[in-house]
Amino acid sequence: VPHVKTRKVAVLGFRAVGKSSLTIRFIDDVFIQAYNPTIEATFNKTFDVDGSHYHLEVADTAGQDDYSILHSQYALGIHGYILVYSVASKNSFETLKIIRDKILNVTGAATIPCVLVGNKSDLQFERQVPREQGQALADSWGCAFVESSAKHNERVEDIFKLIIREIEKTTQHYDMP
Ligand code: GDP
Repeated sequence: VPHVKTRKVAVLGFRAVGKSSLTIRFIDDVFIQAYNPTIEATFNKTFDVDGSHYHLEVADTAGQDDYSILHSQYALGIHGYILVYSVASKNSFETLKIIRDKILNVTGAATIPCVLVGNKSDLQFERQVPREQGQALADSWGCAFVESSAKHNERVEDIFKLIIREIEKTTQHYDMP
């Protein structure tokens, strides 16, 4: 039996940026046009990163505009955060700064393992957030950055590989053999 490391990540961001679409695309490799936003679920997938086996639990936090899920109990089990905005929504980009501050408050940490994701990169004519702005924010946070399209399946798997790497980089983990 291969050694499997369990890691739990939360996908956070403003409504309709594509959190569920990214998660479902990664887990099932499908794109769903209309996903019930009231469903809150944890998805699981086992995959390999850098030669290790990972069991990834993805908490898809639907309907969380008030960020009520961000209480300390919830944050306890989370190893890393995937923070998603839409490149077609400046507002969703600005909202992430508030969400990240809230995570830092709740965890009491100076920094968190995270990946900043500019989703909907296929909407090139509706773009409101330049790529450089996303990269600059990620740099200031010391986290990874990727622009993705759940619709076209572009760089979706990279998001989940990157969060694993960020988690491994910043934290000491004790894995059950
Ligand atoms: P959530 O509320 O953040 O979980 O967002 P959803 O995953 O429910 O997606 C919101 C809407 O954006 C849906 O209509 C999706 O089909 C659409 N969407 C999600 N990802 C993409 C993408 O990469 N490109 C485009 N064009 N639309 C997307």
